[in-house]
Amino acid sequence: MKIDVLTIFPGMFAALSESLIGKAQDKGILEINTVDIRSFSKDKHKKVDDKPFGGGAGMVLKPEPVYEAIRSVGVKKKNKDYKNPLAKPLVLYMSPQGKTLNGNIVKRLSKHEHLVILCGHYEGVDERVMNFVDEEISIGDYVLTGGEIPAMALIDAVARNIPGVVKEEDSVRNDSFYNGFLDYPHYTRPAVFKKMKVPEVLLSGNHKKIEEWRKNEAFERTRKRRPDLIKSKA
Ligand code: SAH
Repeated sequence: MKIDVLTIFPGMFAALSESLIGKAQDKGILEINTVDIRSFSKDKHKKVDDKPFGGGAGMVLKPEPVYEAIRSVGVKKKNKDYKNPLAKPLVLYMSPQGKTLNGNIVKRLSKHEHLVILCGHYEGVDERVMNFVDEEISIGDYVLTGGEIPAMALIDAVARNIPGVVKEEDSVRNDSFYNGFLDYPHYTRPAVFKKMKVPEVLLSGNHKKIEEWRKNEAFERTRKRRPDLIKSKA
């Protein structure tokens, strides 16, 4: 998968060269490219924001450099130019006003070949840019200073669902939300820690019993903590 991130703070994405997402890029499973919106500013001071029409607080990202940045990553063809709809670049705008990111959206996005992620800043971007955006995505009902951290959250979550990024795919399939349940509890050595014991069944070596126990724990946790997930499956 190719991901182009359009941002005025490309340096923030250095975090993605660490850990599993960094390894996925080394292996060539994932290509993450940051595009500095500022480089498309025609202004001699490389200004990308301006005061809002109508007055009021804050600054707004200007439409021209954002538009040019979107065009620069190959988003110009019409839908009909792509035989495979998943090959068309999908332009996402990180926004608190978008659909709230969840496991189903992550799974759907992970099937795409090319994502373009626009990060806003200050008050956001000029609304006219929305004509070039396919979807607005939020990471929750709170406001951050910029779209960079939300974009990183989205990239990390989507990347985990691409085969080969997490070594053991079973671990992704058992994760919370993948099948509509929370994950079961995990334990590692030592078997006794500060007098607290690991559940006996996990030491039994009986795989069928272990699987049953885990399924039951996952169900009980979901019922207690997130009954809404079970209701939405019914
Ligand atoms: N005035 C806007 C918020 C701007 S915050 C409003 O009230 O809707 C600045 C930028 O941070 C946004 O353009 C967006 O890209 C990003 N951002 C802030 N909160 C976000 C969230 N919850 N999810 C995704 N992106 C967010």
